[in-house]
Parts: sequence; structure tokens; C-alpha cells
Amino acid sequence: MRKTLATFRTLAAGALALAVVAGPAPLAQAVGEGPNYDGNGQITTSKLATYDQMVSFLKDQDARQSAMELEVIGQTVKGRDIHLVKYISDPAKPTILYLTQQHGNEQLTTEGALEFVKHLGTGKSEDILDGVNILIVPMLNADGAMGDVNFPLDDYLATGDRNMTRYNAEEVDLNRDHVDKVQPETQALHNNVMRKYTVDYMIDLHHQGTRSERDGKLVSGSILYPTTPNADPAVVEKSKQLGAVVFNNVDSTGWGHLGKYVGGSAETISRNGIAVEYDIATLLFEMRGMSDHYADGVALGLRSNGYLIQQTVTTLTATAAAIADGSIADADTSFWDSLATQTSRPGEEADGE
Ligand SMILES: [Zn+2]
Repeated sequence: MRKTLATFRTLAAGALALAVVAGPAPLAQAVGEGPNYDGNGQITTSKLATYDQMVSFLKDQDARQSAMELEVIGQTVKGRDIHLVKYISDPAKPTILYLTQQHGNEQLTTEGALEFVKHLGTGKSEDILDGVNILIVPMLNADGAMGDVNFPLDDYLATGDRNMTRYNAEEVDLNRDHVDKVQPETQALHNNVMRKYTVDYMIDLHHQGTRSERDGKLVSGSILYPTTPNADPAVVEKSKQLGAVVFNNVDSTGWGHLGKYVGGSAETISRNGIAVEYDIATLLFEMRGMSDHYADGVALGLRSNGYLIQQTVTTLTATAAAIADGSIADADTSFWDSLATQTSRPGEEADGE
């Protein structure tokens, strides 16, 4: 238990040290042409929280935080409990859902979400918790995250005590299962979160490859709203406002550099399907660099963990605050018209969304 918490403290300290000591200019450099670009540094899973460490951390926070509730919403193929973190002060207030790691090899989003949970317990977040209900489903695909799957991962590149894969234990891409909902992980999300709570906003957090760029500079991530023609235009506009809050808060940091993601219109993808089925404003956030992969140039090494975890914390904190104080309703969505779609440097074929 103590070791787990120490791990998270170290991660947080790393992110803060980057933000405070290095300052914006060197960090912008690190995001762009930094030491982890070619070869991408040491790619290892050993510094990432295991599923068990995550659960221990959540149970410990649940015991410390009176405003927090921890619920099990179902089990993975391999029987791991899937958790929902809840902060519900008043069901009449707006509600945002943060979803991480539908793809098991995209873990820094989860690390950031856990850091956010810790922040919510510090007392500095009372204004946020008074104004918005927050739901978090971290590590939906725990089997893929632990490499506990029914197919070989021999060609995956990361060192460490496990490999991590996009797919669930049955080799299904969970983010293509939001119409049929065949897999237990998808069923848990829809039956025990989407249909049980009135959710207004959702951010679906992912990682992409390492070589996407906007305006000639490597991105720290890219964002996109629902692009299915069946989404209610009012829902799409709210989604664009959610994206505006993220863009304004991340791109202005100096280390953040966001592009517009290239995503399909299929409703099997949560960004589209959840917007249509439940009229929820959704945003996809694709951070740079996966934690493990079989293809060269897709995974990103340890030295980038700090700013990518911080990017998650910034995203979650800023959006929850903007919903809590109502300022999201004034968010200017016109930046989407000029935001360049990301392009990819040669030598990479990353999985999409
Ligand atoms: Zn993904």
C-alpha cells in the first residue's frame, strides 16, 4: 500500500518538477524534438501502476475521502473488478464522466486520472465538487493492461514485468463495441454507468503514436468531437465547448501542443455511439505515445511520462472546473474552424482511436 502511494507521489512530483523547474520553453522543446523522439527512450511497463496497485490506491483514497464513493460495476473477461469512482454532491447538478484505458496499452491517462482523484481529496477542490458530479472509470480494459489475454504478446516491445495490449482478453477492441456491446467490459460501462446516471459530458482518454504533428511540430495530443451525422447538433456544439476548455488550458501551457484528431464516424466508437445513444457531449483525447506496442515508433519511453500525466490532470481539472462554475457555456468553439488536423511523420502506422 505504502509503496503504491509512494509511486504516485513520485509521479506527481515528476510532473510538477517539469512544470516548475524547467519552465515553458525547454518543455516545448521536450514535447517536440526531445530526447524521446528517435527510439523514444526506455520503453518499460515497470514504472506503471499494476491493476492491483490501482485498486489499492482507490480503496485507500475511498477510505480517506468522504465525498468519494467507490463502486464495482462489473468484471473483465478474466474476472477483474471494474471500478467506478463517484463524486455526486447533487444529482441535479451537471455530471461529467472520464473514461480511461479502453485500450490496455494506453496507461498514462489512468495514471493522470488517479492523480486527479488524489487532488479531489485535498480540500482545494471543494468548489469543483460543489458544482459538478464527477464519475471516473479508470482502466476499463484491465486484462489488456496487465497482458492477461488469450493470445500471444511475444512481439510487443516494452520491457518490464508485463506487456500491455490494446485489445481485451478476447482480442476485441472495446472501442469498436459500443453498438453491439458484446464484451463484459463494454456491458459494465453501459449497463451500470451510462444507463444508471444522467451524464452530460464525457471525455474518452486514449494514447496515439509518437509522430503526429500540427503546424510542423509534434503534438502532445489531439482532440475530436462526435463526427457521426446522427448526433444532435446541440450535443456536438456542447462537445466542441468541452474541447475548447481542453484546448485553451492545455495548449497554453508551453508543453502542450494539440491538433485535431482524424477519426471515423462509426457509432461503434464511444465518441460517436455514446453521443447518439444518450445525447451526451463527448470528447476524444488522444495523448502522444502508447505504453507498449508491437510496432516501432508507437510506444513512448519513461522520460515523457511526467508531462503526459500532467496533461491528463490539467484536462480533468480544467473541464470539471468549467462545468462547475458554468463557464463552459461561454466557451468559444470557433477555434475548431482553424485548428489544423494532425498529420503523421513517416515511419509510423499507429492504431486509431
Ligand atoms: Zn486508444
